[in-house]
Amino acid sequence: MKNNVTARFLVLHLGSIVIITSIFFIADAQSNAIESKEYFSIVVIPDTQYYSANHSWIFENQTKWIIENIESMNIVFVTHLGDLVDHPLRLEEWDNANKSMSKLDDNVPFGVLPGNHDGVENINDLANYNTYFGFDRFSNESWYGGAYQNINSNNYQFFSGGEDDFLIFHIQYNPSDDVLSWASEVIDKYPRRRVIVSTHDFVHGYNYYSNSRSKIGDFMWDKLVKPHADQIFLVLSGHYENEDRITSLEDGYFVHQLLSDYQSRPEGGNGWLRIIKFSTIDDEISIKTYSPYLNQYETDSNSQFILDEKITESKFMLLSILPVIIPLVVILIVGYFFLRIIRKIKKASV
Ligand SMILES: [Zn+2]
Repeated sequence: MKNNVTARFLVLHLGSIVIITSIFFIADAQSNAIESKEYFSIVVIPDTQYYSANHSWIFENQTKWIIENIESMNIVFVTHLGDLVDHPLRLEEWDNANKSMSKLDDNVPFGVLPGNHDGVENINDLANYNTYFGFDRFSNESWYGGAYQNINSNNYQFFSGGEDDFLIFHIQYNPSDDVLSWASEVIDKYPRRRVIVSTHDFVHGYNYYSNSRSKIGDFMWDKLVKPHADQIFLVLSGHYENEDRITSLEDGYFVHQLLSDYQSRPEGGNGWLRIIKFSTIDDEISIKTYSPYLNQYETDSNSQFILDEKITESKFMLLSILPVIIPLVVILIVGYFFLRIIRKIKKASV
């Protein structure tokens, strides 16, 4: 009888130790997953034209904040939506834009595109854009994909986050049919990559409830986005001074189209930018609107919201839950053998 009690006591305590150790193991595995794989972010810089013209310190503050937060927010890419400057022939504005964007050099991959104010409306004026942000500036970067006719007015880059590989286009204001055909061919070369399109003019934001694209946006939708809705899941645009969004369901795929442009706010936009956070565990893309200049988040429903979406492949889902499943299986097996031992002890003591 005494032996039986001692055995039970031992079994109970050994069991507790195994369970507690397993819980710690699970917690540790999960926290490791959080650190390395649970999320990554891209930062969106909308129209900076008035900063480059009159408030350059606010633009500088944006990119300074980005590089200071690369690690904590796991920022894997920065995209500029065009209108880097207000007057494409004024070199001092390009110098200001260049000074701000250059902070990203060697720190985080980034892409730019020409908006209407960068010279697209008079094609000869694009020379300054391509002097400051031309093909040669980027062509040696490992993450740079290429450009239409090797001119950086239309370009693409690569980045990875979680278990997914991405391709992001930067397409000029009012692109030609040829540019969009080129972009289509690029997508066809990378059928496994999830694709984002950054461009200047796509969602028309004058009427928040209009849920409409601009004429240029409709053209790009028909020629490029809609035929590749299985890969293009996100379109980012500026140009119209507002915030707006459209989600289209195309052949079973969600295509989110977001407008953000703060240039009509005080001091040329008060430094507002967007943080797009991809949570690989929750299968969720969250949008936050933040100004490092004001150190404020804008949290109303057209500034902070979640895009529900499958952003991970099933194989990655399996990988992400393995750290939980393996310890559970271990606990079950160990528990089973403990029960057997208890039964044997019981039998022996009878
Ligand atoms: Zn514009």
